[in-house]
Amino acid sequence: MSDEGTGGEVCAVCGKPAEGERGFSHLYHGGRRFPLCCPMCLQLFQRAPDRFARGENPKTLVEELLDELKWRDSGR
Ligand SMILES: [Zn+2]
Repeated sequence: MSDEGTGGEVCAVCGKPAEGERGFSHLYHGGRRFPLCCPMCLQLFQRAPDRFARGENPKTLVEELLDELKWRDSGR
C-alpha cells in the first residue's frame, strides 16, 4: 500500500494528514491556505496565526499555546 501521489496536505498545526474527508477545515492567512485536521487545531491556529504563517516550529508553538490554555483554565 502506498499513499504517494495524493498531494498530501497536512494539518498546519499537528502535521497529521488533513486532506479530503480527513480535513476538518482550513483557514486563509496572509494569502496562504492552512489545512487543519480538527477543532482543537483550528483553535490553536487562531490563537497565533501569524506565528504559524511565519513558519515557526509548530511543535514548539503548540506546546506554548497549550501551556497558555492550561494556565487560563486553572486560573479561574
Ligand atoms: Zn491537526
